Amino acid sequence: MTQPPIHMQPSNLTPPQVVVLGAGMLGVCTALHLQARGVQVALIDRRGPGEETSHGNAGVIQQEAVSPYAFPFDAATLLATALRRGVDIHWQAAAMPRLLPYLLRYAWHSLPRHHAAITLAYSRLVAHATAEHQPLIEAAGAQHLVTRRGFRFGYRTLQALDKALANAHRVHATHGVPFEVADAAALSQAEPALRPGTLAGALHFTSSWSVSDPGGLVALYAKLFEQRGGTVLQGDALTLEAHASGWRVRTHGGWVGAPQAVVALGPWSGNLMQRLGCALPLFVKRGYHQHHAAPQGLALPLLDAERGYVLAPMRKGLRLTTGAELARLDSPTNPVQLGRAQACARELLDLGPEVDSEPWLGNRPCMVDMLPVMGPVARHPGLWFNFGHGHQGFTLGPVSGRLLAEQLTGRPTVVDPAPYRPARFGV
Ligand SMILES: Cc1cc2nc3c(=O)[nH]c(=O)nc-3n(C[C@H](O)[C@H](O)[C@H](O)COP(=O)(O)OP(=O)(O)OC[C@H]3O[C@@H](n4cnc5c(N)ncnc54)[C@H](O)[C@@H]3O)c2cc1C
Repeated sequence: MTQPPIHMQPSNLTPPQVVVLGAGMLGVCTALHLQARGVQVALIDRRGPGEETSHGNAGVIQQEAVSPYAFPFDAATLLATALRRGVDIHWQAAAMPRLLPYLLRYAWHSLPRHHAAITLAYSRLVAHATAEHQPLIEAAGAQHLVTRRGFRFGYRTLQALDKALANAHRVHATHGVPFEVADAAALSQAEPALRPGTLAGALHFTSSWSVSDPGGLVALYAKLFEQRGGTVLQGDALTLEAHASGWRVRTHGGWVGAPQAVVALGPWSGNLMQRLGCALPLFVKRGYHQHHAAPQGLALPLLDAERGYVLAPMRKGLRLTTGAELARLDSPTNPVQLGRAQACARELLDLGPEVDSEPWLGNRPCMVDMLPVMGPVARHPGLWFNFGHGHQGFTLGPVSGRLLAEQLTGRPTVVDPAPYRPARFGV
């Protein structure tokens, strides 16, 4: 079959200079930042903007998350995980043969001497999280979705609270992350829904923000991109192919071509990389959510730190998001971890009935070295990657979009891009 020529753009489309593939938080922010630098962009997704991972998360813009989640080496967690008794980590046996090489590399990068260097690179991005969201929130008219009053980590025992407090002091000294401590009485006053006597206290990270409809925020950012003259198209990114004048991808309206393409497909980036012969070590840590009609709700999101799930107040109800399920992108759904987290949450407060008929399932796109992949692909001129933001892609979207746009347009960058370059994996 002969292939249509690249100039078969959907009628009335100004030929773009860049196609951005994927309209999650990362793709939308990349498109906005390229546009702000005078680049004509077409943003392409098979669904509407912000309907996948960027929709279902806990909605926290985590200014406190200066360190990416390391592989847990402590004996208690390892044993609970191995026996599949944990709440925070679960795994599917059928996925292990494929996942094991990635997990071993993840564990190696989590060794203290490696993790310290990774934290340094990660914290440089996180430092810009709220400052980079702020102008987008303002311009998109999304203030009504955002609460700027912090994120609480609750502890069931005083020993755990003391240990976390010592760490919070270290993080404050090194990275300037502000926090307050609440004992049980102060916590009860701040969150009257919590049953007395269940939590010994909490750390309140006051500079983090929370969003009551994460997918709604991405949709408003995408609307802003369109209002400023950008184009959002539906199409299948897996049709991306090199072409005489750059790259082209098939949309519902026909082929769209551009000299440059950015892959921001989150957990699905691996599918396209395989086709392009770039085997990057991307794996997924799955997470589930369910909303609850909690009669009292919470004022701020709360991490049940010793159990490993988050309760986040959302427009739709109190959203419980689970920790990590180690499975494959296409593994069957397994709600056991969600059930365990719900049982723990019911100890803390009256969750009320479930709101969703089915739990939501999403996939955190994780690299074995815990750092996102952002930059040019040496093997494929004109191709750029912006994915692999793991547990904090909702937080890091705007700063990562800016960093990618600055690299692509050859401008000075907000942070040194070297640690995040795809070249570290030989592509
Ligand atoms: C339970 C849970 C809780 C979380 N909580 C937080 C939190 O509180 N704070 C935080 O910062 N992060 C959080 N995260 C992580 C965060 O949600 C992700 O890192 C982030 O959403 C990734 O964004 P993305 O744009 O890379 O991917 P996505 O949002 O998944 O976007 C990828 C896009 O690619 C599109 N796509 C895929 N395949 C194709 C194709 N073939 N053709 C066209 N389009 C395609 C999809 O439709 C999708 O729109 C959480 C994640 C989970 C699972």
